[in-house]
Amino acid sequence: MEITKDQALKPHTTFKIGGPAKYFARVETPDELREALAFRKAHNLNFFVLGGGSNILVSDRGFDGLIIHPVNKGITAIEEDAREIALRIQAAETWDDAVGFAVEHQWWGIENLSHIPGQAGAALVQNIGAYGAQLSDVFQSAEVMEVATGEIRILDREACRLGYRSSIFNTTDKGRFIILSLRVRLAKLGQPNLQYPDVCAYFEQRGVTSPSLGEIRQAITAIRDAKFPFPREEKGGNAGSFFKNLLLTEAEYLRLEDQIQRNLTHELAAKLRALVRKSQTAEGIKIPAAFLIDACGLRGYRIGGALVNPTQPLVLLNQGGATARDVLSLACHVRRAVYEKTGVAIELEPELVGFTPAELAEFMSLD
Ligand SMILES: Cc1cc2nc3c(=O)[nH]c(=O)nc-3n(C[C@H](O)[C@H](O)[C@H](O)COP(=O)(O)OP(=O)(O)OC[C@H]3O[C@@H](n4cnc5c(N)ncnc54)[C@H](O)[C@@H]3O)c2cc1C
Repeated sequence: MEITKDQALKPHTTFKIGGPAKYFARVETPDELREALAFRKAHNLNFFVLGGGSNILVSDRGFDGLIIHPVNKGITAIEEDAREIALRIQAAETWDDAVGFAVEHQWWGIENLSHIPGQAGAALVQNIGAYGAQLSDVFQSAEVMEVATGEIRILDREACRLGYRSSIFNTTDKGRFIILSLRVRLAKLGQPNLQYPDVCAYFEQRGVTSPSLGEIRQAITAIRDAKFPFPREEKGGNAGSFFKNLLLTEAEYLRLEDQIQRNLTHELAAKLRALVRKSQTAEGIKIPAAFLIDACGLRGYRIGGALVNPTQPLVLLNQGGATARDVLSLACHVRRAVYEKTGVAIELEPELVGFTPAELAEFMSLD
């Protein structure tokens, strides 16, 4: 396994932002991964596992440590009966290719997660979700390597504790494991999941009542493309949603509504109430962060080369030439404005890589 020095990270991120990595290792097998971890230990380095780079923002200085970049691809059917099939998906497999593979074979369960960039391993890290589906709906177990020992373990659903954009891999056990593969269970006879309003409207407009898997994948791709650009262009980029939606208790929600009424308008408070009627979940009241950003008039707000996406304000865009500092300054402005008007602190979704504690404190402060 080759470890390169001073590797540019910008091309490895969908934001197309960030300085170089001091060391960069592409790892394909568990033995190569152990080798990379031994190198890191010998040189006393920080490490970061880089998948497709679609949920990170890398500092303009880059990363002063070892980047471990999994490249192990492949999808294998491991168990099957008349109703279901279990697949093992290697960590570096492109998530959307896995979805395409399932749809081609007429296996149901992940079609609503079409067109999300990145690798399958990282999909588990934040339990990706979109259009009324999340990975946890089909996830069974993960094969992981324990960083401290190099031991390979199987973690089941319960052990991974998947929640809204969370798992043990980005919370309690962050940095403890590297995901090697995941096992998902898909249905051979499924029903379209059309609960999400955009998806429902898409088919209603076309008079389709029972869409095929292929049609659902096509619909999701079209809906997503209309909202923000899939980062394939050379110029510019984004990391999808830059802010997480909120899950509030009843009391927190009432406080938010009261703040909106006082600091913004009665119309906005009424609009939020109508929205909330449709978004009560078992975990709490879901508030779209995009609604709050929009309510504060931040759509299209710009700092340097970074812009709050005019068509989906949850997304911050690099319009070409934006620095990490531009993006974080913009995120900081958005968080402060939303906090000031609504009393709610919205959290970032992408991971910030290579920033100093002082920089993080500066950008994350709400004062
Ligand atoms: C246009 C666009 C649309 C998006 N839409 C959605 C969406 O609808 N829903 C959604 O949930 N997300 C969405 N995202 C965010 C992103 O695509 C997902 O979070 C994706 O799963 C990240 O994959 P990645 O390989 O790019 O991860 P990276 O950005 O490379 O890494 C993300 C995190 O996972 C860790 N990681 C990566 N691989 C491993 C591994 N093998 N073992 C342990 N840790 C690992 C990294 O260290 C990091 O902490 C979107 C992003 C973009 C750019």
